[in-house]
Amino acid sequence: MMKTILENPLLKNQCYINGKWVGAKSGQVKLLRNPANNEVLVDIPQLSREEIKYAINAASHAMVGWRELSGKQRSLYLRKWFDLVQAHRDDLASLIVFEEGKPFVEALAEVDYAASFIEWFAEEAKRVKGDVMAPPQAGSRIIVLKEPIGVCATITPWNFPAAMITRKIAPALAAGCTAIAKPAQQTPLTAFGLAFLAEKAGIPAGVFNVVTGKASDIGDEFTSNPIIKKISFTGSTEIGRHLIQQSAQTIKKVSMELGGNAPFIVFNDADVEKAVEGLIATKFRNTGQACISANRVYVQEGIYDAFIQVLKDKVGKLKVGNGFDKTVQQGPLIDTSALEKVEEHIADALKKGANLVQGGKRHGLGGLFFEPTVLSGVTQNMLVCREETFGPIAPVIRFHSEADVVKMANDTEYGLAAYLFSKDAERIWRVSAAIESGMIGINTGAISNEVAPFGGIKESGLGREGSIYGMDEYLELKYLAWHGAGENKLKEGEN
Ligand code: ADP
Repeated sequence: MMKTILENPLLKNQCYINGKWVGAKSGQVKLLRNPANNEVLVDIPQLSREEIKYAINAASHAMVGWRELSGKQRSLYLRKWFDLVQAHRDDLASLIVFEEGKPFVEALAEVDYAASFIEWFAEEAKRVKGDVMAPPQAGSRIIVLKEPIGVCATITPWNFPAAMITRKIAPALAAGCTAIAKPAQQTPLTAFGLAFLAEKAGIPAGVFNVVTGKASDIGDEFTSNPIIKKISFTGSTEIGRHLIQQSAQTIKKVSMELGGNAPFIVFNDADVEKAVEGLIATKFRNTGQACISANRVYVQEGIYDAFIQVLKDKVGKLKVGNGFDKTVQQGPLIDTSALEKVEEHIADALKKGANLVQGGKRHGLGGLFFEPTVLSGVTQNMLVCREETFGPIAPVIRFHSEADVVKMANDTEYGLAAYLFSKDAERIWRVSAAIESGMIGINTGAISNEVAPFGGIKESGLGREGSIYGMDEYLELKYLAWHGAGENKLKEGEN
């Protein structure tokens, strides 16, 4: 039997600022609910703008000592943090299930994914390197150094409450920056749990801080405060655009992981079973609430009927329920508006001529549960194709040719992820070159890992996270023009 939330050793419901656990001075709190049963878990502090300012100042003071450490010293702190996250895998996963609702197995996978960023950037911390360049004039040197950008602020969503934080905080800390994280209102407990483990790892006070409160107040302070040099955001394109606009005033560097509208393309020559499995992995994981979830499923006409049949069978067998039941494969949606959006998308598709193949309504369990759904005969003008659904609907569209499907796939302002299923290598190259997207899964629905650069093009974002490129988002270049440094003529005399 799973421990209750109150027995979880990582349970904290205070903010972590300058190495101390604090509530709001005003005493203001917000209740946190479990999406699986609407049970109140704990209350969460609502900090004032002054308290956010205090956290920013603390991070600024902490940076003096943190940036002076060697990369290897910072690496050791991160390594300890990684070890503790691993040791508390089940506890962190429980916090995720409690506040976010995903199945326990998926929550464990998220903890591993989250930990992989801490491990990766602990390694990368030792490998920051600059350059020495050949100058245009003789007798000098051009030296390029990489330096931590400064105090960073991160704003993250509820759908991956652990991984979205470590993917930003680990590279920031590795680079020598300090950071203040604002988790989503729905999922602060995982963030507090991660901070608690960072504290146990000995990461010095003020280096990593977690604050909660009214999102727009915190966002306004982060973007207007001149101490903050970098904003890293994951969330909707709408809020991302707003944060970029706000950050323009003080010219902050920004990284943005925004919305998606991923096409999932299956060609006649694909393995239908594998394609359906890949689709289920990317579409129904986290109840379809991921920015890289397949949003539109394009299937070529030669295998269209067979694909729908296999998909219907497999989706019809997915077990829905409370994430703590180890046999459950799909949890609840996050809130009522998410549920209503799913209903709106289905109603719009059916009104415009789509067919309901599987599911289509609220689940018999009630609450925020929804049946895994398959629609066929979907067309480009339906909301399921135009907008990011963020729910468990697989809308299937029939297509004729490569040229047709690429045109439809690119007909969106988004460009985060895309998926192709085919056995023809030449076709894979051709179509991959034509698809406008930052990431393409080829014969797989699983593209996220710490080694690969995660990020989008078009209105899906700016910058990349994870990988050997992820740390550059937290580093600045400084170039030294050193005249006389290239003078190689040896001295003849004693000096
Ligand atoms: P989602 O649909 O995933 O909730 P949002 O973009 O609304 O996407 O939220 C992502 C994160 O942005 C959350 O932490 C949320 O609290 C935060 N957020 C929402 N509005 C603002 C705002 N005006 N300023 C700063 N952060 C915000």
